[in-house]
Amino acid sequence: MNEWLEIVERVEPLDGVELDAELVNAMQSKFADLQGERVGRVNFYTPTFKAFASSEITGCGKSAWPAISITGGDCKLQCDHCKAKILEPMIAARTPEDLWRVVNEQISGGAQGMLLTGGSNHRNEVEYDDYYSTIRKIKDTFPDFKIAMHTALVDMDIARRMEDSGIDAAMMDVIGSQDTITQVYHLRRTVDDFEKTLEYLVSTKLKVVPHIVLGLHYGHMLGEWNALEIIQRHKPQAVVLVVVMPFYAPENRPFITPESKEIGRFFMDARAALPDVPLLLGCARPPGKVKMEIDSYAVMAGLNGLAHPTDGMVELAVRLERDVRVTPACCSIAIGDEVMAIETDESGLQVDIQRVIEHERTKRPAFASSLSGIKVVTAGQPETVGGCCS
Ligand code: SF4
Repeated sequence: MNEWLEIVERVEPLDGVELDAELVNAMQSKFADLQGERVGRVNFYTPTFKAFASSEITGCGKSAWPAISITGGDCKLQCDHCKAKILEPMIAARTPEDLWRVVNEQISGGAQGMLLTGGSNHRNEVEYDDYYSTIRKIKDTFPDFKIAMHTALVDMDIARRMEDSGIDAAMMDVIGSQDTITQVYHLRRTVDDFEKTLEYLVSTKLKVVPHIVLGLHYGHMLGEWNALEIIQRHKPQAVVLVVVMPFYAPENRPFITPESKEIGRFFMDARAALPDVPLLLGCARPPGKVKMEIDSYAVMAGLNGLAHPTDGMVELAVRLERDVRVTPACCSIAIGDEVMAIETDESGLQVDIQRVIEHERTKRPAFASSLSGIKVVTAGQPETVGGCCS
């Protein structure tokens, strides 16, 4: 049997997970040849591990990284995979004055940053025009408060205005298929408009973090590889991969759940295409067995960050001899915590991985000896297992 499949079999929480042997083989041989700054390191962003849920990292509310929408739940595009549902739970700030008030309230409540977004107009633009001076005021008044902005499509002028407003990170979805743009997004824009947006943003000083939504074409993979090529041409600071959530879709335009094998293949190709760029798996992905498979492929392919990993992923990564870190990032609809962690992952409060491993040893004494000698890197102070977001 394939060596990596044997390793998976030894991870108790992954019992019953069915992985594609051929793909795992390909991942193993491809990983061995990979060279790059980011290869071999993985950070798990999670509010807690089950084993420690009762004590160490409680009190992680949604307030550390609130998501704020300048249009509330309104969006003119009504894309088939979303129908503006992603906006619904966000905090509405429909005027610049509202934004200033909401941010002040959030900071008083302990927020460290926010995801700023909003629904699109018919051209897939979020109309921030009236907000830039308020955003500037927020950054001037609270320089440590991080702002990750969902930019949608921009021209060079808007990209500069975003840069001047002082935001910390610019995020956008890169879509590589014209059919997906037309059919799923109901948009009269081109793949080139998405590439140009990335090009403009990357030409500023902003930290740019494009996203690729896997399975965006009704659950099928269509433009994802082209999106990857676009990103390769414009080298951003990080890339976030998310998997489409079929249950957001309306009944008359159903999405299938993407095949985990296809997702895994894309992870492998993305890793090979961008060896020096941090590759993160965002929170959004279908739940259940498919999530366990997707997460296992993500770890094996060599992604650098997993938000809210399924049980067993830390152990799998340790057994694969990766440089493993765990950050108790608070649960939030925003992926802001993951994105900002790219530059702060050397500091801040970290879960003591040794304790996770020790827990695994007590749970499965038979495997205890095989864990010894595995390299585990614990960033931060080993004693500081708690206090998320404080
Ligand atoms: S994906 Fe964005 S543009 Fe499309 S409906 Fe959802 S919020 Fe609107």
